[in-house]
Amino acid sequence: MDYDVKTNLHSVLNDLPQGVRLVAISKYHPNEYIEAAYQEGQRIFGESHEQELRAKSQSLPSDIEWHFIGHLQTNKVKYIAPYISMIEAVDSLKLLKEIDRQAERNNRVINVLLELHIAEEETKYGLTLDACRELLAAGEWRQMEHVRICGLMMMASYVEDQEQIRSEFLTAKHFFDEVKAQYFADAPYFCERSWGMSHDYPLAIECGSTMVRVGTKIFGPRVY
Ligand SMILES: *Cc1c(COP(=O)(O)O)cnc(C)c1O
Repeated sequence: MDYDVKTNLHSVLNDLPQGVRLVAISKYHPNEYIEAAYQEGQRIFGESHEQELRAKSQSLPSDIEWHFIGHLQTNKVKYIAPYISMIEAVDSLKLLKEIDRQAERNNRVINVLLELHIAEEETKYGLTLDACRELLAAGEWRQMEHVRICGLMMMASYVEDQEQIRSEFLTAKHFFDEVKAQYFADAPYFCERSWGMSHDYPLAIECGSTMVRVGTKIFGPRVY
Protein backbone atom coordinates (compact mmCIF):
# COMPACT_ATOMS: atom_id res chain seq x y z
CA MET A 1 0.00 0.00 0.00
CA ASP A 2 1.63 3.23 -1.09
CA TYR A 3 -0.36 5.40 1.23
CA ASP A 4 -0.29 5.28 5.01
CA VAL A 5 -4.01 4.89 5.56
CA LYS A 6 -3.65 4.00 9.22
CA THR A 7 -1.63 7.09 10.20
CA ASN A 8 -3.78 9.40 8.11
CA LEU A 9 -7.00 7.99 9.52
CA HIS A 10 -5.86 8.60 13.07
CA SER A 11 -4.71 12.09 12.31
CA VAL A 12 -8.18 12.94 10.96
CA LEU A 13 -9.92 11.20 13.87
CA ASN A 14 -7.79 13.20 16.30
CA ASP A 15 -9.18 16.39 14.79
CA LEU A 16 -12.79 15.42 15.48
CA PRO A 17 -14.44 16.64 18.66
CA GLN A 18 -17.08 14.52 20.35
CA GLY A 19 -20.28 14.51 18.37
CA VAL A 20 -18.60 14.68 14.97
CA ARG A 21 -18.40 11.44 13.02
CA LEU A 22 -16.19 10.50 10.12
CA VAL A 23 -17.47 9.18 6.82
CA ALA A 24 -14.34 7.81 5.15
CA ILE A 25 -14.79 8.49 1.44
CA SER A 26 -13.36 5.46 -0.30
CA LYS A 27 -14.52 6.00 -3.89
CA TYR A 28 -11.97 4.92 -6.49
CA HIS A 29 -9.82 3.30 -3.79
CA PRO A 30 -9.27 -0.45 -3.64
CA ASN A 31 -10.59 -2.80 -0.98
CA GLU A 32 -7.23 -3.08 0.76
CA TYR A 33 -7.37 0.62 1.65
CA ILE A 34 -10.83 0.20 3.11
CA GLU A 35 -9.70 -2.89 5.01
CA ALA A 36 -6.78 -0.95 6.49
CA ALA A 37 -9.17 1.69 7.86
CA TYR A 38 -11.63 -1.00 8.95
CA GLN A 39 -8.92 -2.71 10.99
CA GLU A 40 -8.44 0.57 12.83
CA GLY A 41 -12.10 0.55 13.79
CA GLN A 42 -13.57 2.76 11.05
CA ARG A 43 -17.03 1.54 10.07
CA ILE A 44 -18.67 4.30 8.01
CA PHE A 45 -17.55 4.56 4.40
CA GLY A 46 -18.86 6.71 1.57
CA GLU A 47 -19.09 5.84 -2.12
CA SER A 48 -20.49 7.69 -5.08
CA HIS A 49 -20.97 5.05 -7.80
CA GLU A 50 -23.51 2.30 -7.57
CA GLN A 51 -21.55 -0.45 -9.34
CA GLU A 52 -18.35 0.22 -7.46
CA LEU A 53 -20.29 0.27 -4.20
CA ARG A 54 -22.05 -2.98 -5.05
CA ALA A 55 -18.75 -4.77 -5.69
CA LYS A 56 -17.22 -3.43 -2.50
CA SER A 57 -20.23 -4.13 -0.31
CA GLN A 58 -20.30 -7.73 -1.51
CA SER A 59 -16.64 -8.38 -0.78
CA LEU A 60 -16.06 -6.37 2.42
CA PRO A 61 -17.30 -6.98 6.00
CA SER A 62 -21.06 -6.79 6.42
CA ASP A 63 -20.96 -4.47 9.42
CA ILE A 64 -19.68 -1.59 7.29
CA GLU A 65 -22.21 1.23 7.10
CA TRP A 66 -22.22 2.45 3.52
CA HIS A 67 -23.22 6.02 2.74
CA PHE A 68 -24.11 7.00 -0.79
CA ILE A 69 -22.65 10.46 -1.35
CA GLY A 70 -22.82 11.14 -5.08
CA HIS A 71 -25.53 12.10 -7.48
CA LEU A 72 -27.97 9.19 -7.49
CA GLN A 73 -30.10 8.40 -10.51
CA THR A 74 -33.56 7.15 -9.63
CA ASN A 75 -33.08 3.99 -11.70
CA LYS A 76 -30.14 3.01 -9.46
CA VAL A 77 -31.98 3.25 -6.17
CA LYS A 78 -33.27 -0.31 -6.36
CA TYR A 79 -29.74 -1.70 -6.36
CA ILE A 80 -28.62 0.01 -3.17
CA ALA A 81 -31.93 -0.05 -1.29
CA PRO A 82 -31.39 -3.50 0.29
CA TYR A 83 -28.26 -2.53 2.18
CA ILE A 84 -27.47 1.20 2.09
CA SER A 85 -27.11 2.80 5.50
CA MET A 86 -27.65 6.40 4.44
CA ILE A 87 -28.27 8.22 1.17
CA GLU A 88 -26.67 11.61 1.68
CA ALA A 89 -27.49 13.31 -1.55
CA VAL A 90 -31.24 13.57 -2.00
CA ASP A 91 -31.77 16.46 -4.37
CA SER A 92 -35.32 15.99 -5.65
CA LEU A 93 -38.77 14.87 -4.57
CA LYS A 94 -38.68 12.29 -7.34
CA LEU A 95 -35.59 10.68 -5.85
CA LEU A 96 -37.02 10.79 -2.34
CA LYS A 97 -40.19 9.03 -3.56
CA GLU A 98 -38.21 6.34 -5.30
CA ILE A 99 -36.13 5.72 -2.18
CA ASP A 100 -39.35 5.39 -0.17
CA ARG A 101 -40.75 2.95 -2.74
CA GLN A 102 -37.66 0.78 -2.86
CA ALA A 103 -37.20 0.86 0.90
CA GLU A 104 -40.76 -0.39 1.30
CA ARG A 105 -40.08 -3.23 -1.13
CA ASN A 106 -37.15 -4.17 1.07
CA ASN A 107 -39.20 -3.82 4.20
CA ARG A 108 -36.93 -1.23 5.73
CA VAL A 109 -36.54 2.46 6.47
CA ILE A 110 -33.69 4.27 4.71
CA ASN A 111 -31.98 7.24 6.33
CA VAL A 112 -31.43 10.17 4.00
CA LEU A 113 -30.03 13.69 3.99
CA LEU A 114 -31.30 16.49 1.77
CA GLU A 115 -28.46 17.94 -0.27
CA LEU A 116 -28.28 21.71 -0.46
CA HIS A 117 -26.76 23.71 -3.26
CA ILE A 118 -25.13 26.70 -1.62
CA ALA A 119 -21.76 26.79 -3.39
CA GLU A 120 -21.34 29.21 -6.24
CA GLU A 121 -20.26 26.52 -8.73
CA GLU A 122 -22.93 25.67 -11.27
CA THR A 123 -21.64 22.14 -11.50
CA LYS A 124 -22.65 21.10 -8.01
CA TYR A 125 -25.88 19.24 -7.44
CA GLY A 126 -28.38 19.88 -4.72
CA LEU A 127 -31.50 21.81 -3.82
CA THR A 128 -31.38 25.57 -3.54
CA LEU A 129 -32.61 26.76 -0.17
CA ASP A 130 -35.88 27.82 -1.74
CA ALA A 131 -36.32 24.50 -3.53
CA CYS A 132 -35.69 22.73 -0.24
CA ARG A 133 -38.23 24.96 1.53
CA GLU A 134 -40.77 24.15 -1.20
CA LEU A 135 -40.15 20.43 -0.98
CA LEU A 136 -40.70 20.48 2.76
CA ALA A 137 -43.68 22.83 2.61
CA ALA A 138 -45.41 20.67 0.00
CA GLY A 139 -45.52 17.99 2.67
CA GLU A 140 -45.59 14.85 0.52
CA TRP A 141 -42.58 13.55 2.45
CA ARG A 142 -44.75 13.25 5.56
CA GLN A 143 -46.53 10.27 4.03
CA MET A 144 -43.31 8.45 3.23
CA GLU A 145 -43.01 5.86 5.93
CA HIS A 146 -39.87 4.24 4.58
CA VAL A 147 -37.54 7.21 4.48
CA ARG A 148 -36.25 9.08 7.48
CA ILE A 149 -34.91 12.57 6.78
CA CYS A 150 -31.99 12.81 9.20
CA GLY A 151 -30.56 16.19 8.24
CA LEU A 152 -28.77 18.14 5.55
CA MET A 153 -25.67 17.73 3.44
CA MET A 154 -23.72 20.26 1.40
CA MET A 155 -20.37 20.98 -0.25
CA ALA A 156 -18.78 24.41 0.02
CA SER A 157 -17.24 26.10 -3.00
CA TYR A 158 -13.78 24.88 -3.89
CA VAL A 159 -11.99 28.19 -3.35
CA GLU A 160 -9.07 29.57 -1.33
CA ASP A 161 -11.13 32.24 0.38
CA GLN A 162 -11.76 30.87 3.89
CA GLU A 163 -14.35 33.54 4.64
CA GLN A 164 -16.41 32.49 1.67
CA ILE A 165 -16.27 28.86 2.74
CA ARG A 166 -17.17 29.82 6.29
CA SER A 167 -20.10 31.88 5.11
CA GLU A 168 -21.43 28.96 3.03
CA PHE A 169 -21.16 26.55 5.96
CA LEU A 170 -22.91 29.05 8.22
CA THR A 171 -25.67 29.53 5.67
CA ALA A 172 -26.20 25.78 5.80
CA LYS A 173 -26.15 25.77 9.60
CA HIS A 174 -28.72 28.55 9.86
CA PHE A 175 -30.88 26.81 7.30
CA PHE A 176 -30.64 23.61 9.32
CA ASP A 177 -31.89 25.51 12.39
CA GLU A 178 -34.77 26.94 10.39
CA VAL A 179 -35.84 23.55 9.05
CA LYS A 180 -35.37 21.86 12.38
CA ALA A 181 -37.59 24.40 14.13
CA GLN A 182 -40.24 24.37 11.44
CA TYR A 183 -40.53 20.67 10.64
CA PHE A 184 -38.42 18.48 12.89
CA ALA A 185 -38.53 20.05 16.35
CA ASP A 186 -39.93 16.80 17.75
CA ALA A 187 -37.72 14.52 15.69
CA PRO A 188 -34.46 13.74 17.49
CA TYR A 189 -33.21 11.83 14.44
CA PHE A 190 -33.11 15.07 12.44
CA CYS A 191 -29.68 16.00 13.75
CA GLU A 192 -27.08 15.55 11.00
CA ARG A 193 -25.15 18.34 9.32
CA SER A 194 -22.90 16.67 6.78
CA TRP A 195 -20.28 19.17 5.68
CA GLY A 196 -16.51 19.28 5.49
CA MET A 197 -14.10 17.46 3.15
CA SER A 198 -10.33 16.96 3.19
CA HIS A 199 -9.48 20.58 2.54
CA ASP A 200 -12.11 22.26 4.68
CA TYR A 201 -13.30 19.95 7.45
CA PRO A 202 -11.74 21.87 10.39
CA LEU A 203 -13.69 24.94 9.31
CA ALA A 204 -16.81 22.84 8.78
CA ILE A 205 -16.55 21.60 12.35
CA GLU A 206 -16.33 25.19 13.59
CA CYS A 207 -19.54 25.77 11.65
CA GLY A 208 -21.56 23.00 13.24
CA SER A 209 -20.78 19.92 11.17
CA THR A 210 -21.76 16.62 12.78
CA MET A 211 -20.41 14.45 9.97
CA VAL A 212 -17.33 15.10 7.88
CA ARG A 213 -16.74 13.32 4.56
CA VAL A 214 -13.01 12.89 4.16
CA GLY A 215 -11.34 10.94 1.36
CA THR A 216 -8.05 12.26 0.03
CA LYS A 217 -6.59 13.08 3.43
CA ILE A 218 -7.00 9.44 4.48
CA PHE A 219 -6.55 7.45 1.29
CA GLY A 220 -4.44 9.76 -0.85
CA PRO A 221 -5.21 11.07 -4.32
CA ARG A 222 -7.81 9.14 -6.31
CA VAL A 223 -6.76 7.42 -9.52
CA TYR A 224 -9.70 7.82 -11.90
C1 LIG B 1 -15.35 12.82 -3.14
C2 LIG B 1 -16.25 13.48 -2.15
C3 LIG B 1 -15.82 13.82 -0.86
C4 LIG B 1 -14.39 13.61 -0.38
O1 LIG B 1 -13.53 14.55 -0.94
P1 LIG B 1 -12.00 14.66 -0.49
O2 LIG B 1 -11.58 15.97 -0.99
O3 LIG B 1 -11.28 13.52 -1.13
O4 LIG B 1 -11.97 14.57 1.01
C5 LIG B 1 -16.74 14.37 0.02
N1 LIG B 1 -18.03 14.58 -0.35
C6 LIG B 1 -18.47 14.29 -1.58
C7 LIG B 1 -19.89 14.57 -1.91
C8 LIG B 1 -17.61 13.73 -2.52
O5 LIG B 1 -18.08 13.46 -3.74
